[in-house]
Amino acid sequence: MAENSIISDSEREKIWAGRGVARNKSVLSTWLAELARLIWALNCAGCNLQDTDICGNCIATIHHENYPILTAQDDMLAVSRTFYQGAARNIILKFKDHKRLDLEPFITGEMQKLTKKLVQENHSTLATYDKIAIVPAPSSRKNISKRGHWPTQKLSTSVYLAVKDAFPEAQIRHIALLKNSAKAKKQVKIQGADREANKKGNVQLAKLKYHQHKKFLTTSHEPTSDATVNSDNVLFILVDDIFTTGATIKGCKTMLDTLGDTKFAITFAKTESNE
Ligand SMILES: [Zn+2]
Repeated sequence: MAENSIISDSEREKIWAGRGVARNKSVLSTWLAELARLIWALNCAGCNLQDTDICGNCIATIHHENYPILTAQDDMLAVSRTFYQGAARNIILKFKDHKRLDLEPFITGEMQKLTKKLVQENHSTLATYDKIAIVPAPSSRKNISKRGHWPTQKLSTSVYLAVKDAFPEAQIRHIALLKNSAKAKKQVKIQGADREANKKGNVQLAKLKYHQHKKFLTTSHEPTSDATVNSDNVLFILVDDIFTTGATIKGCKTMLDTLGDTKFAITFAKTESNE
């Protein structure tokens, strides 16, 4: 199976071409959102209030004071913008599954703010790395084609742009380095430890991406015992839409840790408990 079929050629070009094109793309999506608003009378994606894409009340529930939501997991810090409930849940579900692409500027804007906050609060850790790779959690080709887009990759593009802004001197790349193995079972049917084992066993390196970025990803020295010197390692920042049990992130981290240091994960929303 061709691994590159997971995203279209044009989509990939936009990602590799870097921020210039991505900026145009975000201008385009803002423009498309405006157009959609003119053509269809939109309801609030959070609460169905008429004639608005997201109402002030729903934005207020997402901008709550406990921000960012932090989850420490192993030697990694996961940050989330909001809890996965109420308006936030409706908004992310409508963006993902109901093709409310007019929500993209709001969601990616929130991801950028979250990334800036993460960078500010962990600047000294990030600054020890010369190479940073932003990696979206994988989605199956089936889901991408069913939805007509890859939501996680849109989120990770916005994270990439925010990190690049913060570290203009570093080498920053956005690489869809992970994929689900073809044998992955349906995640919704699997709970808890089984789900964790399933995810861990089924996240793989996308070999084509690995070979495209091999030089960037390959470290020239063995890891050193001096924790302050990371300049030869790649720092990975994982991006996903929802943090549920942490199993997906853990599976991704296990795979990426074979190539570098996975210290941060950024997700739009987190479920309230880790059940
Ligand atoms: Zn609302």
